[in-house]
Amino acid sequence: MQDAFSLGGRTALVAGASRGIGLAIAQAFSQAGARVILAARSLDALKAHAAQLPNAEAARLDVADNASIDEIVKRYPETDILANVSGINLRKRAESYTEEEYASLMQTNLHGLFRLTQGLGKHMIERRRGKIINIGSLTSLVGLPFVSVYSMTKSAIAGMTRALAAEWGRHNIQVNCIAPGFIITDLNRDIWSKPEMRAWLRGAQSLPDPGKPEDVAPLAVFLAAPASDYITGQVITVDAGYSTTANWPLEA
Ligand code: NAP
Repeated sequence: MQDAFSLGGRTALVAGASRGIGLAIAQAFSQAGARVILAARSLDALKAHAAQLPNAEAARLDVADNASIDEIVKRYPETDILANVSGINLRKRAESYTEEEYASLMQTNLHGLFRLTQGLGKHMIERRRGKIINIGSLTSLVGLPFVSVYSMTKSAIAGMTRALAAEWGRHNIQVNCIAPGFIITDLNRDIWSKPEMRAWLRGAQSLPDPGKPEDVAPLAVFLAAPASDYITGQVITVDAGYSTTANWPLEA
């Protein structure tokens, strides 16, 4: 009998695996026994990371390019586990986004991931088996200033999670979303180097420090494994308590 937490015998495709949270998820999937396809645009980085893993390969994927997405679907129809991690962010005032900036965020964070999920999902439906793990964000749940369009894409990712979970449950496909809190990566290293931001975070959440990509990856393994077969349509935070706790100066 397959171990409830093992990914042995499964093929996992991680979109956005060249660094940060996606790379940590790809590495954790591999550690749990999966064959892993590391996909993103930076092929050299992907190849270097794949070479460090026992049963892994690199594949070029640009989720802003429909032809590139279709090529990946054609190449890896056997994908059992899809992690949609690719994402970009832009911090600016809502009133100043250009049409190009808006379109770029929408295409990368939402439209491309839906197309990839449609393509690989069709094959999962045929095989009557699949696990889809979307990476949302705290902004799937909470409003923060100066990340309006990013928040819109991440809220839609939560909606896509629930809708596909409802539609594909009958095909034995589970769809869930991880909403990471403040995790230090290339996306935000500049912000978390500011002492005032670190001080603010200490007051805003129960666990005082920002997280690392390795704090997020174990939940992705759980959501990809048989252990979570009865869990679907969920948006689960990995956020040090940000969305549920706060600190105040009161001492007992
Ligand atoms: P990161 O280190 O910048 O990684 C982003 C990943 O997305 C890279 O692998 C990048 O690969 C890939 N990507 C970007 N554009 C792409 C495209 N057009 N096609 C294919 N892949 C593309 O950032 P991260 O923090 O790990 O972010 C990963 C995910 O977590 C994102 O969806 C982000 O919104 C989400 N998230 C992060 C945090 C946080 O605090 N860090 C919090 C909540 C949610 P290439 O550049 O090689 O293509």
